[in-house]
Amino acid sequence: MALWVATMFSDDINSDPVVLVGGGFAGLTTALSLSRHQDRPKIVLIEPRDKFVFVPLLYELLSDELNSWEIAPSYDSLIEDRGIVLIKDKVKSIKTNKMQVITESGLELNYSKVLISTGAKPNDYGIKGVAEHALKFHCLRDVELLRELINDLRGTIKALPNSLVIVGGSFSGIELACKLSDLLDQTIDIHLIESGDRLLPQGKSFNQEQSEKALIHRGIRIHLRTEVLEITADKVHARTSDDMKSHDFVLQHRGLIWTAGSKAVFPEILPSPSLKNGKISIDSSLNLIGYKNIMAAGDVCSVQGIICPATAQVAIKQGELVARNLINSMKGIDPKAFEFNDQGEMLSLGIGEASITAWGFTISGPLGFHIRRITYLVKMLDKALGIRSASSWLLGFKKNVFYENNQLNSDSN
Ligand SMILES: Cc1cc2nc3c(=O)[nH]c(=O)nc-3n(C[C@H](O)[C@H](O)[C@H](O)COP(=O)(O)OP(=O)(O)OC[C@H]3O[C@@H](n4cnc5c(N)ncnc54)[C@H](O)[C@@H]3O)c2cc1C
Repeated sequence: MALWVATMFSDDINSDPVVLVGGGFAGLTTALSLSRHQDRPKIVLIEPRDKFVFVPLLYELLSDELNSWEIAPSYDSLIEDRGIVLIKDKVKSIKTNKMQVITESGLELNYSKVLISTGAKPNDYGIKGVAEHALKFHCLRDVELLRELINDLRGTIKALPNSLVIVGGSFSGIELACKLSDLLDQTIDIHLIESGDRLLPQGKSFNQEQSEKALIHRGIRIHLRTEVLEITADKVHARTSDDMKSHDFVLQHRGLIWTAGSKAVFPEILPSPSLKNGKISIDSSLNLIGYKNIMAAGDVCSVQGIICPATAQVAIKQGELVARNLINSMKGIDPKAFEFNDQGEMLSLGIGEASITAWGFTISGPLGFHIRRITYLVKMLDKALGIRSASSWLLGFKKNVFYENNQLNSDSN
């Protein structure tokens, strides 16, 4: 493998590549942004999966509003002719003193700079039974498992104890609750459990209101200030508390989906970096604090002094900045600092409904849904540019729609 990588760079074998560890929103954006520059470093992307998954559209995959080819293009198709070396492997450790990355298959690769963009995974907070009995909603396999559950539940007569429980009242939990309710034609009781005292705790107030309306309209039962204590194959033990008292209760369930948080995942880094809330601490130029030639971007890291959400929007912006700073460093230009600009948020609220707060206005209901559909169409019309269109949807939806529509009009003229 090492020989193969060296052969790919036979024009200048002495200069080590920039190695990008993890090809999600941050890593893939960095790779594609770098590849657009003529004077660029050699790029190696290490990623274990075959396909890039556009995670924000997993709900539409579940409801068959989109197909898997639309939201999960192969890495080979995305980086074709881009001069990026893709290694399908998982990085086990990074030895910063030797400037070396070691993969699970035993490849040892020297780097000139390395980016850690390995993202996050669902966090069970050590609660008993979550790992064994809860479904997750994070990857293509999770969608398959949830589809199997939906098929099992379809046709179930509405009667206790036929309940579906979703834990986590933020974006994923709310979006899933509404989609599942619509997919099951409200034939089953759906419970949404949230530990905080309101739904969508970090969301925009308009989206909070719309979410609550959508859930109530579907008869979804909301349990606020409620902690899950334990999950078994068919029961969830929980505790609801308020200022005065708390009470424990047990719900029977036919399926439980855990969307209650995530934690950063990353390979062993030697010596160990400083962490904040389990995430790698980085400075505003996205460099690991106290290290040289090692950067991080996306869900895996926390930028010192900046509070920003763990979203694809942020991961894409950081990926672009990493690429820009790498090109600048080759020219001896100082790195630029990351600034978080909130681009707004949109969430799907069942089949045919969505809520959007962005660009200074708010939209909900079928119009919100149609705006999402337009962006899907824009994306689907040019498969090869799927990732680019989808990314620009998240970052600049409005601009993208008008730009692409004008392109289409002029193309068809
Ligand atoms: C259901 C759901 C819906 C969401 N909806 C939205 C939304 O609407 N809008 C929004 O902005 N955000 C949304 N998000 C959040 C968004 O998906 C994440 O913030 C984003 O994926 C983070 O990008 P990332 O590059 O940091 O990590 P990821 O996209 O998770 O990519 C990490 C990559 O690293 C790879 N990897 C992991 N470990 C290793 C290793 N050791 N070696 C090599 N590779 C490795 C993984 O295979 C993966 O491909 C949603 C998330 C979920 C789960």
